[in-house]
Amino acid sequence: MMREALIDLGAISHNVEVLRGIAGVDAMVIVKANGYGHGAVESARAALAGGATWLGVADLDEARALRVAGVDAPLLAWLHDPVADFASAVEAGIDVGVSSAAQLEALAALPGRAEVQLKVDTGLGRNGATLESWPSLVADAAAHERAGRLHVRGIWSHLSNTGADEDAAQVQIFAEALAAAHAAGLDPELVHLAATAGALHVPASRFGMVRLGIGAYGLSPDAAPVAQLRPAMELAASVVSTKRVPAGHGVSYGYDHVTSDETTLALVPLGYADGIPRHASGRAQVTINGVRHRVTGRIAMDQFVVDVGDHAVAVGDRVVLFGDDRSGVPSAADWADWADTINYEVVTRIGNRVKREYRL
Ligand SMILES: *Cc1c(COP(=O)(O)O)cnc(C)c1O
Repeated sequence: MMREALIDLGAISHNVEVLRGIAGVDAMVIVKANGYGHGAVESARAALAGGATWLGVADLDEARALRVAGVDAPLLAWLHDPVADFASAVEAGIDVGVSSAAQLEALAALPGRAEVQLKVDTGLGRNGATLESWPSLVADAAAHERAGRLHVRGIWSHLSNTGADEDAAQVQIFAEALAAAHAAGLDPELVHLAATAGALHVPASRFGMVRLGIGAYGLSPDAAPVAQLRPAMELAASVVSTKRVPAGHGVSYGYDHVTSDETTLALVPLGYADGIPRHASGRAQVTINGVRHRVTGRIAMDQFVVDVGDHAVAVGDRVVLFGDDRSGVPSAADWADWADTINYEVVTRIGNRVKREYRL
């Protein structure tokens, strides 16, 4: 084993079950960006085993890749190329998130009857129809639905996770947008607003379904750990070389670290090309043989060095960067702190050179 991301699929199923229990409603599990780095197809199957009834991805390429892999569960995609191939999406039975009149008209013009989920911008300012355009979007959608050109399966939006007041305001705006859709003659079977944070902490945002991303992978959407969740990814590599060096030896580019005593340097074959944040150089920690060590010197493209002092570390020993911190190893959230980012980015950026190994 050179480098591996060990993915605990049972943990994903468990996390989905736990979060469904907390939210008390159905769950769509989000497997965009290669399942937050965990593998989209495998994560999707584990999520379905945990009781998810829907899957979500950002774009249609991701959605079609799931279909090609044989995943036939209900599936939504919402972030579209300006010249998106909606026809093949509809053929593949993919629900299309619709944020604009242009998208609605393109879908209505197709020979097949598209399943659409209309998205309203309740404050986040990303996609979703503006509140100004919402009345005409729902009226046009209702007309197309009556004419048999498409079916509006869902109405949805996304929270900003800014604070309790902002969440409450978005919930209120969403409820009004939903009422406007009903008044226009739509009767969507799916109504969803909350992602993991809302599923955990904002009961009023749960409506009929929650969209679970980070929580399904066992990580918290914010600074508060969620005790019932199990981190699904453990990132590890083998020590590929060790050497004994004297005091005063430089370590990695720029000699940011110089050994203070005679010591052992262990080389780890993971770098920023693999998603290891260079910004964590000199701060991050890893576990080798049950002992925490600091990453010393700059993280390079393919490798970094750990000054392990007089600890017995040998070529082939397993280095754990992050995983389930209850076992004493650092967490993805620890790496996020060391790199001034969020746990989402830490797991999602793990690159293709890192082999995913799955266990049930
Ligand atoms: C990524 C995403 C989610 C999942 O968010 P988490 O915070 O990871 O649970 C839900 N909905 C939308 C629209 C997203 O883009």
